[in-house]
Amino acid sequence: MKEFDALKPYLDKKRDLRYLSSIVYYDLQTKAPVQTIEKESEIANSISADIASISQDPEYIKAVKAFAAANGKNPEQTRLAELLMEDISFMEKVTIEQYSAWNQAISASNAAWRKYRETNDFAAFLPYWEKAIKAQKEICAIKKTDKQKTLYDVCLNDYEPGSTEEQVEGVFEPLKKALIEMLPRAMKRQESLDVPEVYPISIAKQSELTPKLLKLIGYDLSRGAIAESAHPFSDSLSKHDARITTNYDLEDYHGNLSTVLHEGGHCMEFQNWPDSHYENYVEMVATAAVCETHSRFYENLLGKSKELAPVLLKLCQETFGGDFLKMSAEEFYNGENLVRPSLIRCDADELTYSLHIIIRFEIERDLINGKIEAKDVPAIWNAKYKEYLGIDVPSDKDGCMQDTHWSENLFGYFPSYALGNLYGAQILHKMKQDIDVHSCLKQGDLEPIREWFATYDFAYDYLHPEDWIKKVTGEKLDARYFIEYLQEKFLG
Ligand SMILES: [Zn+2]
Repeated sequence: MKEFDALKPYLDKKRDLRYLSSIVYYDLQTKAPVQTIEKESEIANSISADIASISQDPEYIKAVKAFAAANGKNPEQTRLAELLMEDISFMEKVTIEQYSAWNQAISASNAAWRKYRETNDFAAFLPYWEKAIKAQKEICAIKKTDKQKTLYDVCLNDYEPGSTEEQVEGVFEPLKKALIEMLPRAMKRQESLDVPEVYPISIAKQSELTPKLLKLIGYDLSRGAIAESAHPFSDSLSKHDARITTNYDLEDYHGNLSTVLHEGGHCMEFQNWPDSHYENYVEMVATAAVCETHSRFYENLLGKSKELAPVLLKLCQETFGGDFLKMSAEEFYNGENLVRPSLIRCDADELTYSLHIIIRFEIERDLINGKIEAKDVPAIWNAKYKEYLGIDVPSDKDGCMQDTHWSENLFGYFPSYALGNLYGAQILHKMKQDIDVHSCLKQGDLEPIREWFATYDFAYDYLHPEDWIKKVTGEKLDARYFIEYLQEKFLG
C-alpha cells in the first residue's frame, strides 16, 4: 500500500531513536557512573525531543492522515493507524517547549529519587517531585478529551486505553473487600505449616541461578541481557534484544527468584511476537496491563504453583547446595507462598499484592485530581498501610519512596499490575482447557505454554485490551477467576 510505504521512513526513524533511548535508559539504571547521570539524562531528553519533533513534522502528519484514511489495511495496520492518530492529535496540541519541560521535570525528579531514596530524604525529593507533578497535570489537561471526566482518567488512558477511574474503582472496591476479608483467614490457616528458614545465599550463587530460571521458562539468552538495577525492569529494544534487570538481596533469595520470573515473563512476550508485529510497527503497543498479565503469570501463576515447586527447588539445590539440599518441595512451596502483610510491594505474596496496588491507586488518583498534595503523601501512605494491611511503615525509603514509578510520572500505571492479575487468572482458566498445564509444570517442560501464548495471545496483544481478552479467552474481563483462584489456593 503506497500510503503505508510513504509512512515507513518516519516510523523506522522513530524506532531507531526509541532503540537509542532504551539503551541510554538501561545504562542510566544499571552501569552509568553517578558523575555522568546528568549528561546522560540530557542526552535522553534530546532523543525524546527528536522523537517528538518527528511527530510534529507537517509532512509526517500528512502521511499519517493519508494512511489512516486509506483502504485495504490489515488488522495490525488498522490498530497502528488508530494509535498514530491519537499521538498526532496530542502532539498537535502540545508545544515542543511544553513537551521538553515535562520530560526535563521527569528526568530531574527521577534523578532526585535515585539520590534521596538512598538517604531516606523525602523532604529533599519533594521540590523535584512537585515540579514533575505540576508538569504532569498540565500535560493531562492538554490531552484531556470530552469523554474523560478527571485528569486521572487521562493518566489511566495512557496505560489501559478507554478505562476510567470509575471503572477501576468498580473492580477494585469488591476486590479490596474480598482481600481484606480473606487475609486473616489465610494467615490463620498457614499457622501450622512447615516453612523453611530464610538464610543468606551469596550474590554469586544467586546470580548463577538467574540464567537457569530464564532458560527454564524459555527465554532466549542469545537475544537478551541481564544486569542489576535498584528497581528491576525489562525492555524490548529490538526483535533480537529483550533485556532484563534484577536485584540481589543477600538475606533473601526469594526476591531475585520472583523478579527474574517476572521480568523474564515480560520478555517471553517480547521474544515471541510474530514477524508481522515488526512489519506493521505494532511490536510495542501492548498496554501495560496486558504486559503485566504475562509477567505476573510467569512470576505467580506458574512460578508459585505447587506443580513447579519441585522443579524450582531442584534448580536451587543444584546451585545453592548447603541447607537447601535438606528442603522438601512442600517446604519450598510454603516458603514461596507465605501470606504476610509486608512493606514492599515487589516482595508481596499473591494475596496482599493487590492491596499494595489499591493503596497506590487511591493515592495517585487523589494526587493528580488535586484532592491531596504531594507533601502529605507519606502520612496518607502510612495511614493506609496501617488500615488495609495492619502494618507500621518505619521509613519513607520503604514506604512511599520505594517504587520508581511516581518519580517518573508513571501515574496510572499501578492499576495495570492488579488488572494483570485478573486477566492472568482468566487466561489460565482458558489455557487449561486447551493444554495440560498441570503436567507441563510437573515435568518442568514449559515449551507448550510458550507455544500456546505465542499462538493464542501474544499474536493479538496489539489489540485494544477489551478486544484482546475477548479474543484470547472468549469473554470480557471477569474478576471472579482471580478471586476463585486465591480462594482455592489459600483457603481451599
Ligand atoms: Zn512488570
